[in-house]
Formats: sequence, structure tokens, C-alpha cells
Amino acid sequence: MLHQRTPVPSAKELILGINQGDTTALARAITLVESENQDHLAKAARLIEACLKPRPETMRIGITGVPGVGKSTFIETLGMTLIEAGHRVAVLAIDPTSTLSKGSILGDKTRMTSLSGHSKAFIRPSASGESLGGVARKTREAIILCEAAGYDVILVETVGVGQSETAVHSMVDFFLLLKLAGAGDELQGIKRGIIEMADAIVINKAEAANAASAKQAQTEFSRALHLYPPKSSEWRPRVLTCSAIENTGISEIWEMIGAYFQAIRKNSFLSAHRSAQNKQWLMQHLEDVLKSEFFGSETLKKHLSEWVIKVENHTVSPFKAAELLMAEYRKELK
Ligand code: GDP
Repeated sequence: MLHQRTPVPSAKELILGINQGDTTALARAITLVESENQDHLAKAARLIEACLKPRPETMRIGITGVPGVGKSTFIETLGMTLIEAGHRVAVLAIDPTSTLSKGSILGDKTRMTSLSGHSKAFIRPSASGESLGGVARKTREAIILCEAAGYDVILVETVGVGQSETAVHSMVDFFLLLKLAGAGDELQGIKRGIIEMADAIVINKAEAANAASAKQAQTEFSRALHLYPPKSSEWRPRVLTCSAIENTGISEIWEMIGAYFQAIRKNSFLSAHRSAQNKQWLMQHLEDVLKSEFFGSETLKKHLSEWVIKVENHTVSPFKAAELLMAEYRKELK
């Protein structure tokens, strides 16, 4: 019967639940912020507002790498190590493939089985969305909700496709690139920008049988990193090796991440960086809102196609057409 169904919790109930670390409330809150439904926007905004407070004690870590490099295995092993050390771990994913095509590289597998069953871990598969920008916005909000629910380590995973690394880089404090040792030139086929963003490069699958090639990759990447100018965090990116499957090298990686956070808390980079990210989110969001408002306006719906034809026929310049459309739009606003 209808009245016996679980009622939809109010924003207040969700906020209370999140503050108590209730994972059901957290999951429902994330679903709400991910919703495209216009009626949910105000409620989602209230939730985020209530959860928004600076949390310098949390660690936001981005992890990227091509499919098959071992991201989920790595996160599983690292996540369990962190839980044993007393942390609470949330894993969020940005999956550009789910927006570009209907498929998903990150979401479809059964992943992180020990971690997903653990009471101190929260795993949220990738948000779906029309655009990478939309998915990224939702992931930022999910980070805020997870932190409010008491997760102090947030692992944001992405696959190295398109602009997704840049999106993840813009929302984390530490950016880790997972790589495999291979034959030949290690640096071939890597987007230059990714190396520049990395705070650490980790060569995975470095078991005894691969030790020599892992070592060689480590040397090459270290050399490559030296070519970049110093980072504003003053951190010198490092290259480490590990085997996610055998759980070797993982605690060294965590020690390195710990050293990083200690350094950026001491030199105030962490708070400055998060402030700058907040500003960037504001500007980006404003751009999104303006764009969707303008392109959703009556003026555009009515007149854009006429102007497009005129521009295509060279009877009006693109600049003049834009100016006239803007003038129409401004009239509509009055
Ligand atoms: P993802 O696509 O990047 O998430 O990669 P997965 O974690 O799903 O791993 C891809 C494959 O590599 C799986 O068959 C894993 O078992 C394997 N794998 C992951 N980490 C290691 C490792 O450290 N050593 C070896 N030998 N295999 C690994």
C-alpha cells in the first residue's frame, strides 16, 4: 500500500543522516545531486550548502590510468591498507566512456569486492551524465557529501580518456598516475599534460618477474619528471613501483602520500589550492548556467536557425548575427 512505502526523506533528514555517517542517507543524497529532475535541484542545493565546510583534514586523491593497468585492484589493496590504518575511505569514479558512448569501462565490472563489503568504505560507481562537465560537477558534490559523512580519504578514479584526467585533477589534492612497465620507450603515447599533472607515477604489476623492466620504467619516468618546472605545491613528483595483486609497494606509496599532505598542510598549499578550486568551480558553473539559460531561451529557439542559414549564405557575418541574437535575448530578459 502506498502509505506503507518508505517515504522520501526530507533534506533535513538526509543532512542529519549524513552527519551521523549513515551510508543509506549518503547514497540517497548523492542520487539526489545526480538527478536531472528540476524539482530536485533546490533540495540538492540545500544538502550541499549544509555539508559545505572546509575540511583540511581530508585527503582527496585522484587515480588515473588506462583500462587494464590495475586501477580497481590498486584501489582495493590501497583502500584495505587505509582502513586497517584507521581511515574511512570513499571511492568515486568519473567515467567519460559512460557519457561518450552508452558503455562504461569503469562501472560494468564487479570491482573491489573486499572494499565494497566493508563498513568503513563507501563505493559509488560513476555518475552518468550528458557531458563530462556535468559528471564532474556531480562528483565534486559527491566528494563534499562523503566528507560530511566522515570519510577522510576520497579516492577519485578515472580512466585515461579525453579530458577526464583534467576534470579529476581539478577536484583533488594529489594526482596519481598508474602505469605499466613495457618494452621500448616508456614515454611514448603518454599525453604530455598528464605527466605534468602527476604528483606521483606508480608502475604497477612490478612483481619479481617484471622487476627489471619496472626499474627501467621508473628511471625513465623520473628523468621525464625532472624536465618539468617545479610545482606551486613545492612537491617534487616521485616514481614508485608496486604490485597491487601481491600487495607490495603499497605501504610505501601511502607513506609518500602522507609526506605530501604533511608538506602541503605546512606550507598552506592545501588550503590555497582548495580555495582556487572553489573559485574555478564557481566560474565554470556560472558559464554552464549562462550557456544553458541562453540556449534554452525563446529567442534562441525561435531565431537561431534563421540566423544560421543567413550566416551560411554569407548574407550576415557571424559576429553581426551573434550581436543581433544577444540583443533579442536581452529584450526577452526585460
Ligand atoms: P583497471 O581496468 O585499471 O581497473 O584494472 P583492473 O584492476 O581491473 O586489473 C586489470 C587486470 O590486471 C586484472 O586481470 C587484474 O587481476 C590484473 N592486475 C591488477 N593489478 C595487478 C598486479 O599488480 N599484478 C599483476 N600481475 N596483475 C594485476
